[in-house]
Amino acid sequence: MTESNKVLVVGAGPVGYTVALNLAQYGIPFTLLEVDNEISEDPRAGTIHPPTLEMFDRLGLNETIFERGYVVPNYHYRDRRQGLIADFDLGLLSVYTEYPFRLMLEQHKISHIISDRLDAFDNHQILRQHRVVTVGQDDDGVTVEAETPEGNKTFRGRYIIGCDGGRSQVRKSMDVDFEGFTFPERFLVVSTPYDFGEHGYAITNYISDPDEWCALFKVPGTDDAGLWRVVFPTNSEDDEADLFDDQSIEDRLQGFHPNPAAYQIVHRNLYTVHQRVASSYRDGRILIAGDAAHINNPLGGMGMNFGIHDAFNVTEKLAKIWFEDGDENLLDLYDRQRRTVAAEYLQLQTIENKKNIEQRDPVAREKFYDELRAIVADPDRQRTYLHRVAMIEGIERAASIT
Ligand SMILES: Cc1cc2nc3c(=O)[nH]c(=O)nc-3n(C[C@H](O)[C@H](O)[C@H](O)COP(=O)(O)OP(=O)(O)OC[C@H]3O[C@@H](n4cnc5c(N)ncnc54)[C@H](O)[C@@H]3O)c2cc1C
Repeated sequence: MTESNKVLVVGAGPVGYTVALNLAQYGIPFTLLEVDNEISEDPRAGTIHPPTLEMFDRLGLNETIFERGYVVPNYHYRDRRQGLIADFDLGLLSVYTEYPFRLMLEQHKISHIISDRLDAFDNHQILRQHRVVTVGQDDDGVTVEAETPEGNKTFRGRYIIGCDGGRSQVRKSMDVDFEGFTFPERFLVVSTPYDFGEHGYAITNYISDPDEWCALFKVPGTDDAGLWRVVFPTNSEDDEADLFDDQSIEDRLQGFHPNPAAYQIVHRNLYTVHQRVASSYRDGRILIAGDAAHINNPLGGMGMNFGIHDAFNVTEKLAKIWFEDGDENLLDLYDRQRRTVAAEYLQLQTIENKKNIEQRDPVAREKFYDELRAIVADPDRQRTYLHRVAMIEGIERAASIT
C-alpha cells in the first residue's frame, strides 16, 4: 500500500465510525480524522430502527447492542390532555424483518461499541485532535490539511468521505448547496431518572399539544438503570439561561406530569433544528454521508439511522470500485439513491411528524387522531404505516433507483 492508497474519513460520530468499520471489514485501508479528543456524550440519538439493526448484524455488533439496549415492542401517540390516542405494535413488522421493534441505545455507546470492534482490524489509523480545514482533489486522489496539536499536517487518499456533521467542512469544500430551512424555535432536551413507565407511558411516546408538545423516551443511561429524556419546543425569543434555569425546567416538567417530589435533572441541552439536504453527495473523489449530507428534526428518531444507511451504501460501492474494478459511476448511484430518499422520505416524514405533533387547529388535530385510531384498528393498515415510519420503505425505495 502506498501512503495515499487509502480512504480518508472525516468525523468520528456514529456515521464516521460505521463507515470505518465497513471499510475495515472490506479490507480497505483508511485514516479517520476527528477534531475532538473523545467520543461526545451529548444526549442526541437514542432510537435504532429495524433496518439499522439488520445492518449492524452484518457488522457483528448486535450481541453487544442487544446486551446494552432496550427493545421497544410498541410506542404511543398521545395527546397531552386526552391521553393515549394510538398504541403502535411494531411486532406487525415481523413479515419484513427479523427485528420487528426499535432498540433504545444512546449514540455515543454505539460509537464506543464500533470503536472497540475496530481494534480487531489492522490497516487503519484513527487520529483525534485533527481538525480538517481544507480538502482538495486531483486526477489521482484527494489532499486534506488538518490542524493538529503538533501543527498542520497533510494527508493523501484515493477518496474522502465527509461524515463531519451538519457544519461539514468536507461539504463546504465541494461547493454544493445545503438547501432547506431552520426552524425558529430550538428543542430543549431534559433527562431525568423519574420513572414515567410507572404511569402508563411506553418506552417511546410522542405527545401532541397545541401549546407545548413533547416527546418522551427511555434510554439506558449512564448506569443502565434507565433515564427518561423529554424533548420540548421552546419559543424563539427564549433566553438560554432562562430555559436552563432549574425552576423553569421543574415547572415545565411539573406542567407535563405532576410529580409530588422535585424532578432530578441529569442533562439539559438545547438544539437548533434544521431541515436541509445537500444538492449533491458527490464531487469527484469527495463524498459526504450522515448529517454532513442531510439534517432533520429528531421527531421519529431518523437522522442517525439514515446516516448509517448512507454509510453502508457508500462503502459497498467503494468496495466494488476498490476490489472489482467497478465503475466510478457507482458513486453517482450512491448520490442518486441516498439523496433521493433523503428528500422524498426523511425530510417529508420528519417535517410531517413535527407538523402533526404541534397541530394548533382543533379540527385538523382530531382528524389526525381519528386517522391514527383507524390505522391501529386495522393490522394491514398499521403494518403499511409502520413499514414507512420504521424506515424500511426508504431502504426499499433507494434500492429501486438504478
Ligand atoms: C435531540 C436529538 C435527538 C436525536 N435523536 C435521534 C434518534 O433517536 N435517532 C436518530 O437516528 N437520530 C437522532 N438524532 C440525530 C443524530 O443525533 C444525528 O443524525 C447523528 O449524530 C449524525 O451522526 P454523524 O456521525 O453524521 O454526525 P455527528 O454525530 O455530528 O458527528 C460528526 C463528527 O465529526 C467531527 N467533526 C466535525 N467537523 C470536523 C472537522 N472539520 N474535522 C474533523 N472532525 C470533524 C465532530 O467532532 C463529530 O465527532 C437526534 C438529534 C438530536 C439533536
